[in-house]
Amino acid sequence: MSAPLALLGGAATWTGGWPDWPQAGPGAIPLIEEAIASGRWAISGDWTGRETLDRRFSRAFAAYLGTRHCLTVDHGSSALVAALLALGVGWGDEVIVPGLTWVACASAVLRVNAVPVLVDICPDTLCMSPAAVEAAITPATAAILVVHLYSAMADMDALRAIAARHGLPIIEDCAQAHGAVWTGRRAGALGAIGAFSMQQGKTLTSGEGGALVTADPELASRLEQLRGDGRRYAASMPAQGHPELVAMPGAQGFNFCLSEMQSALLLDGLTRLDDQNRTRARNATLLDDGLAGVGGFEPIRPHPANEVRAYYHYAVRYHVEDFAGCPVEAVCRALEQELGAWVHPPYRPLNDHPLYRPHNYPPLAGTPLAERLDPRRFPLPEAHRQADRTILLHHAMLLAQPGAIDACVAAFAKVRHHSHALAAWARSR
Ligand SMILES: *Cc1c(COP(=O)(O)O)cnc(C)c1O
Repeated sequence: MSAPLALLGGAATWTGGWPDWPQAGPGAIPLIEEAIASGRWAISGDWTGRETLDRRFSRAFAAYLGTRHCLTVDHGSSALVAALLALGVGWGDEVIVPGLTWVACASAVLRVNAVPVLVDICPDTLCMSPAAVEAAITPATAAILVVHLYSAMADMDALRAIAARHGLPIIEDCAQAHGAVWTGRRAGALGAIGAFSMQQGKTLTSGEGGALVTADPELASRLEQLRGDGRRYAASMPAQGHPELVAMPGAQGFNFCLSEMQSALLLDGLTRLDDQNRTRARNATLLDDGLAGVGGFEPIRPHPANEVRAYYHYAVRYHVEDFAGCPVEAVCRALEQELGAWVHPPYRPLNDHPLYRPHNYPPLAGTPLAERLDPRRFPLPEAHRQADRTILLHHAMLLAQPGAIDACVAAFAKVRHHSHALAAWARSR
């Protein structure tokens, strides 16, 4: 404990390394080889006499989530755009978005020429505050985009009640919540449409990728056409060598399709997701307990209805006064050096995020919408307060052996013990 911080030249707490992410299971390579050998690498390719891996995965993922329909897409961002289009969100409509989330949640709204209305968060979960959502509803509101952030679900009971009261659809962004459960129902199955990302960092991944789920057959049909340039899977088997996707009357679509090699990775990943989620949750509880023993830390407090947590990041707040006023970047830097892993603060809130610049988006610049897009219009004091004292660990660290989790606790304790030296270092920079 008295040895100096690794950041200041001392020995690191842990040099044992961390599990890699992404991980492919033993089933991945045979499935990818199957996709390659099939001669059909895209769902828009010709029928080869066998069901696509896309359909196999979609069926498995819908069953896993307990919902009726699943459509894969090429990115989580595409899933959000397709969900907004399927719900008829368009020019000048307002979509309520949490102020603390990945920028794609707001930029997807811009892509359908609608206005992201940023709302503040609950300190317990870091997810959008239902009271703030209700206060932000206007006659122009067309949808609520709920995000389950890092490791906790948003209060779906309160949000669903508000949405029902105002006749608004909920899009559930589950990019960080594959497998989370709210009173017996999986995240994604609680809103009108669930949107998932399968980008490399996510807990179910094909490098890039995404999925849409819904219980509503009409929305499913619209989503399928939207992601396939207006085409859908044929109702009956096509002739060998003819495309299986067929043109249908209806909405303008786009190509948001996933490749068959990506579906192979998702089929493999889904078989391991629950086991990995259980390991992560077990280790997160060890961390919560260990840090409670250290003192000076405050865990996320999920809603009791959030029965199963899915960890995309382990998040914990520190009491700045117990850390000699150290800024969060310094605490993260010190932990990073102790642990040999990337440790970082949350996203900057979207009213101050370097990647969210709606006023520079050419299709809307100079239009009557431009002024309404200015993110500085939306005060987000709680998002800033929490972002300035929250430390995040990537979910792959939660797949480590318990000895590595003990080392995490020791590293947090060491940084707290040396917080005066760390504060002096931070001031000197
Ligand atoms: C990753 C992520 C997205 C975007 O997904 P991409 O696949 O990167 O386009 C959207 N929302 C949230 C909350 C995310 O974490």
